[in-house]
Amino acid sequence: MVVKHVGGSQTQSTVSLRPQDLSSYFWQDHIKRLLDDAVRSAQKRQQPLGHILLSGPSGYGKTTLASLIASQLGAQFYSVTGYAISKPADIISLLTSLQPGDVLFIDEIHRIKPSIEELLYIAMEDFSLDVVMPEGWSMKIPLVPFTLIGATTNRDQLTEPLKNRFVYDCQFVPYSDTEKIAILTHYLALYGCRLVQDLIPELATYCISVPRVIHTFVIKVRDWMISYDIAELTPALWEECRQWMGVEKWWLMPLHQRYLAYLTTLWRPTWLKTLAMHLGVSEQTIERDIEPLLFHCGKIEKTPRGRICVG
Ligand code: ADP
Repeated sequence: MVVKHVGGSQTQSTVSLRPQDLSSYFWQDHIKRLLDDAVRSAQKRQQPLGHILLSGPSGYGKTTLASLIASQLGAQFYSVTGYAISKPADIISLLTSLQPGDVLFIDEIHRIKPSIEELLYIAMEDFSLDVVMPEGWSMKIPLVPFTLIGATTNRDQLTEPLKNRFVYDCQFVPYSDTEKIAILTHYLALYGCRLVQDLIPELATYCISVPRVIHTFVIKVRDWMISYDIAELTPALWEECRQWMGVEKWWLMPLHQRYLAYLTTLWRPTWLKTLAMHLGVSEQTIERDIEPLLFHCGKIEKTPRGRICVG
């Protein structure tokens, strides 16, 4: 259930693609200003950093930032997702196994159950646990000071009492086009992809301003270049690579394109059920994997009579 990284040494294969130090992490300025000073203060005080809440869309860098903060502090990093903490015993065993100053990261923290959330209140505030025994009496268990970093893609689902217990409340905002280019340029250099310089803005039009998407995009470009022994990407070669990737402007993949093509030919509002039947996928796949990007690019809208194409 829990992934443990000691300091900055990251052991999980999925995590090794993340930036390994803060210098390769693209900060959002308002978060950097807040957390830089908070980390410095914790280091000077030699006491744990205040609890941090990171909220923002998936792929914006919440998990990466949390693990980099832990390594900056020289602290151990424990990572768990909210839905994996299914019973009070899970959180009790997690919290009682922490060492002083450890960072506990709970991803999708809005998914923890109310009974567990209540245990967290006192743990965060007083570094202790109030455990009610089956016989009805309660027992106080002392904890070592630790830092909780909670991440959520759905801030509205968090209760006020939980939100209030975080000292630093950091909300990610959309990455700008300039930041998109900077992140793209960074990953192209990191993976050794050489390309004629003025091709970067053109490549940028094929992905969206989400760091995880940009990173994945560059990995594919790298793979194509290596497989065809391409030393430098030119506009003509990029067109070949793009066709191999099956990507259109705005990071639209074949399923997005089929969805749009179908909606465009109809030119009337269409229900989710109809779209799912036509595309041969589940309604959940449409809602979870296809539509978020199309809403993000302003290509579709939801109306009371169904989905319509707008772009
Ligand atoms: P989240 O937890 O918000 O879903 P992650 O931290 O898992 O996002 O980020 C996904 C991937 O995107 C990371 O592995 C990293 O490669 C890249 N990434 C995310 N944010 C940044 C950033 N600010 N700077 C550089 N790379 C980033």
